[in-house]
Amino acid sequence: LCGTEMKVLEDKALYPIIMGHEGAGIVESVGEGVSTVKPGDKVITLFLPQCGECASCLNSEDNFCIQFKQSQTSLMSDGTSRFTCKGKPVYHFANTSTFSEYTVLSEISVAKIDAVAPLEKVCLISCGFSTGYGAAINTAKVTPGSTCAVFGLGGVGLSVIMGCKAAGAARIIGVDINKDKFEKAMEAGATECINPQDFKKPIQEVLVDMTGAGVEFCFEVIGNPEMVAAAFASCHESHGVCVIVGLLKFGVQLNISGWLFFSGRTLKGSVYGGWKGR
Ligand code: NAD
Ligand code: ZN
Repeated sequence: LCGTEMKVLEDKALYPIIMGHEGAGIVESVGEGVSTVKPGDKVITLFLPQCGECASCLNSEDNFCIQFKQSQTSLMSDGTSRFTCKGKPVYHFANTSTFSEYTVLSEISVAKIDAVAPLEKVCLISCGFSTGYGAAINTAKVTPGSTCAVFGLGGVGLSVIMGCKAAGAARIIGVDINKDKFEKAMEAGATECINPQDFKKPIQEVLVDMTGAGVEFCFEVIGNPEMVAAAFASCHESHGVCVIVGLLKFGVQLNISGWLFFSGRTLKGSVYGGWKGR
C-alpha cells in the first residue's frame, strides 16, 4: 500500500471509489483502436500515463504527461466511470483502480512487460520502487562517492536508498522517527540510520555536524512540509540538492528562508522517479 493512498483518502477523493495504483495484470480484452497491447499480454499499470504526444512526453527530460489530469477527475477520458455497484457509479482512482480483480485502463496507462515477470513482484515497479530509485538516479543524479540522506524509510524511501547505492554513494544516512525501519534500511544500503527524536538539536543541525558541511543529496520521502524544510537545510550550502518525493497535501505552503538559496542550493520535485512509464 503506497503512502499516497492514505493521503488521497484524507484529501479529495470522490466516493465511492476503487483505490489502488500499484498493480500488474494480464490484458483480458482491448477496445477499438488499441494497438500496443493484446489479450494475454502482461502489463503494469501507470498512474502517470504516457500519451507520447504532449509537450512533456516529447521532452526527453520530462515525464509529467498532460493526461495525468484525467486521474484527478476519477473518470475515464470519455467522462464515464466503468464501475457500478447496484446500478450506481463507482469512481476510478489515479487512472488505475487496482484494488479490484478487473479494471479498465486507457492504453496509455499500461506498459507491456516480459511474459515471465512475476506479477506479485513487478507491481512495485508501477509506483514505489521506480519512484524512489528514479528520484536518486534520474532526478538528483547522485554521484559516486557522495553523501546522501533519506528522510522517511517506507517502501519509497528504501527504494531511494537502493538508487543512491547503485549510483555509488559513499555514505547514505537514513532518517526516521520509527526505529523499526532501520534494519531494512541497512539491508537496502543505508550506512547509518538516525531518529530525530534522539537529539536535542534540530535534525538539519545534526546532519550538518555529522557530515562537516551538509549532505550532497537529500530526499524528503514523508510528505511533511516541516521535514521538507529540514531536508533542504541539511544540504550542502552550495552544491547540495534536495528532492521532494513525499506528497504534500493540496494547498500546503513551505516555510523556507529565501536566504538558503543564495549560496546555490537546489530544491526540486520528482514524480514517478522521472521515468517515462511506457
Ligand atoms: P510510508 O508511510 O510507508 O513511509 C513514510 C515513512 O516516514 C515512515 O517510515 C514514517 O515512520 C516516516 N516518518 C513520518 N513522519 C516522520 C518525521 N516527522 N520524521 C521522520 N520520519 C517520519 O510511505 P511511502 O509509501 O514510503 O511513501 C512516502 C511518500 O512518498 C508519501 O508521501 C507518498 O505519498 C509519496 N509518494 C510520492 C510519489 C511521487 O511520484 N512523487 C510516488 C509514490 C509515493
Ligand atoms: Zn503526454
